[in-house]
Amino acid sequence: MINLPEILGFAGIGVVVIAYAPQIIHLRKEHCSAGISLKAYSLWCVSSALFLIHAVMIRDIVFSVVQLINLVAIIDITLLVKRYGGYVCLRHLQAQQGRTATRRTFSGARRYGG
Ligand SMILES: [Zn+2]
Repeated sequence: MINLPEILGFAGIGVVVIAYAPQIIHLRKEHCSAGISLKAYSLWCVSSALFLIHAVMIRDIVFSVVQLINLVAIIDITLLVKRYGGYVCLRHLQAQQGRTATRRTFSGARRYGG
């Protein structure tokens, strides 16, 4: 019998899947790894593995499933970034160039402004 806390937990799992989907789809479709830190994902991978072990040991089904999904998504993203590392899609490249131009303008204004 499923109870309210488990319903809320599985709803949370759905949100996790929805949160990962755009990143994974963008990586697979555009081969773009803009803004992804492999160091951060490596730490999240270790963290998720530890949480998964903990969740299995305390026999928490919701926490076990969410950590398993986290682990699979993190490993998938990490492998895709390693495969496509350095590639940036046109949209992200233009965004990066826009930020760089803004920074140059701003630092130039400070340098020459006073
Ligand atoms: Zn991109």
